[in-house]
Amino acid sequence: NELANMMDVQVNQIISTCMSLGMFVSINQRLDAETLSLVAEEFGYTIEFVSADVAESIIEEEDKEEDMISRPPIVTVMGHVDHGKTSLLDHIRKANVIAGEAGGITQHIGAYSVKIESGRQITFLDTPGHEAFTAMRARGAQITDIAIIIVAADDNVMPQTVEAINHASAAGVPIVFAINKIDKPGANPDRIREELANMNYLVEDWGGKYQCQEISAKNGVNIEDLLEKVLLEADLLELKADPKKRAVGSVIESSLDKGRGFVTTLLVQGGTLRVGDMMLSGSHIGHVKAMFNERNQKVEAVGPSEPALVLGLNGAPQAGERINVMEDEREAKDIATKREQLQREQGMRTKKHITLDEIGRRIAIGNFQELNVIVKGDVDGSIEALSDSLIKLSTEEIQVNVIHKAVGQISESDIMLAAASNAIVVGFQVRPSLTARRIAEKEEIDIRLYSIIYDAIEELKSAMEGMLSPEI
Ligand code: GDP
Repeated sequence: NELANMMDVQVNQIISTCMSLGMFVSINQRLDAETLSLVAEEFGYTIEFVSADVAESIIEEEDKEEDMISRPPIVTVMGHVDHGKTSLLDHIRKANVIAGEAGGITQHIGAYSVKIESGRQITFLDTPGHEAFTAMRARGAQITDIAIIIVAADDNVMPQTVEAINHASAAGVPIVFAINKIDKPGANPDRIREELANMNYLVEDWGGKYQCQEISAKNGVNIEDLLEKVLLEADLLELKADPKKRAVGSVIESSLDKGRGFVTTLLVQGGTLRVGDMMLSGSHIGHVKAMFNERNQKVEAVGPSEPALVLGLNGAPQAGERINVMEDEREAKDIATKREQLQREQGMRTKKHITLDEIGRRIAIGNFQELNVIVKGDVDGSIEALSDSLIKLSTEEIQVNVIHKAVGQISESDIMLAAASNAIVVGFQVRPSLTARRIAEKEEIDIRLYSIIYDAIEELKSAMEGMLSPEI
């Protein structure tokens, strides 16, 4: 029916053309690409396929050089469980609140802005951990400018510390280390420095390039110094935004509130969001009815790097979804409808991830220069050996990067990292967890399992040479 409309012919003509091709179709049946081309040809048309990305894309207003102003950095805190992420965020949040207002006033809206003594601002994402960070990246949102990696000085660099470091590095986000719990009797900050050095993360006080601060999150010791170091890092990045253009941002959280309708927390990344603006996010639209800051105060305008809780969207977009202010309500509606249609037809997926089978083809057409790999295995020795061999497969045309390697089964977090970094996952003598397998299927992540190192190397090598026989 749709094809008939597009070509301005009778539906019956299409159906009978299909019949002559040996296909019996109904009026609402969807045709595959090949049939579409054949049928269209019969009527003198050539079909050009436009990718979903193009069909739904929005041309965002460009930054104007003369309007650019510096913006606060957006910071995520990551680290091993119990090393003090929440305590650090809590302390910073409380220290920020004006005396007398302490406690209860700051709401959790997914992000908050703090002003430090020097008067400068930092925006913190309030959901600590690399899982949230990478889940956002997997949906295409790179929000974080700087990562604070926290390590408890009475413990060691732990598996999740390594994960956090690798997740931040894979995203190209600069790291500032916070060595926490220095008040504790068993604290040994130098041991942490040494363990980091062993991972090739040499901290500044030892002559390296990574800034590092000893803190006690619980007692609020040296937090101000840590934040100064974060700002120093931010200065190097020269973070700027144009506050005058139509706002663009990312969704941090969204939900349905009984009294207020759909509630969206977002972070403005460029432009200024104002009450009354027409928003578009995913397949949802709406005028900004009201906005609140993290202290539940009504605000009229929200600028770059500032978070806000926004009322007015007609649905709940996913975390990490882009949010755009549109000039024209009709256009916003059209795009929302088109996106909804696409979602229904092909699921949320618009991006296809790399598979081993596809590597050879991509290399052959010359648009593939880097192969990212995540290596999980049962023992450290074999992981190191396998990773080294894989890196050595690099050629002049293609660089093999092991973006994360660790002992243990293939986890959900590995799959999210693969999705965010377009990587394949190699498991040596380990298997994926059930959730990991489920997410990998949904995100179309290629997981390859081996029990012999030689097989893994050979298969990757063949794939890179375009020699891999397709899996049956
Ligand atoms: P998270 O899992 O990384 O968010 O860690 P939490 O912030 O929940 O901290 C875990 C535990 O360590 C809690 O019992 C905190 O009170 C404690 N803790 C955090 N920071 C410090 C610190 O600087 N000194 C001491 N002594 N304990 C701390």
